[in-house]
Amino acid sequence: MIDLNDRVIRGYLIRLVGEDGLKMIEGMPEGEITDEEVATMTGVLLNTVRRTLFILNENKFAICRRERDSNSGWLTYLWHLDFSDIEHQLMKEKKKLLRNLKTRLDFEENNVFYVCPQGCARLLFDEAMETDFLCPMCGEDLVFYDNSLFVGALKKRVDALSSS
Ligand SMILES: [Zn+2]
Repeated sequence: MIDLNDRVIRGYLIRLVGEDGLKMIEGMPEGEITDEEVATMTGVLLNTVRRTLFILNENKFAICRRERDSNSGWLTYLWHLDFSDIEHQLMKEKKKLLRNLKTRLDFEENNVFYVCPQGCARLLFDEAMETDFLCPMCGEDLVFYDNSLFVGALKKRVDALSSS
């Protein structure tokens, strides 16, 4: 079983299934169980349980097995969780995030920006040229936007992720 107290794992699961979904995961016993039983045991709404199981299933963290009752002929869906692949998923997500951050950092470092002092818009230098350095929304004079603080924060984030 995974360590649900791990900050990274918790964050990842909350992004995936939300706080209620995490509550469901935490309350779910090992072994096979129906969605209705999960709802009863965890106190999470049945609709939320179903949605959470569906999302987990799409990400291969929940496995479903159908069983037909030989008397009634009814189908029962039995669920169990399997997080054995989560480290691999986390690694993939980290790589994706790092790639996005680097692309953003590159964009911020290689462009010059102008903003409207009223907060309407942020424009690239070329775009600002086209509007004669006037805000396209309100007509106010655009001012140079110093993004060095933002670039610094992005760099820190990239460094932290690269070394972790
Ligand atoms: Zn404006």
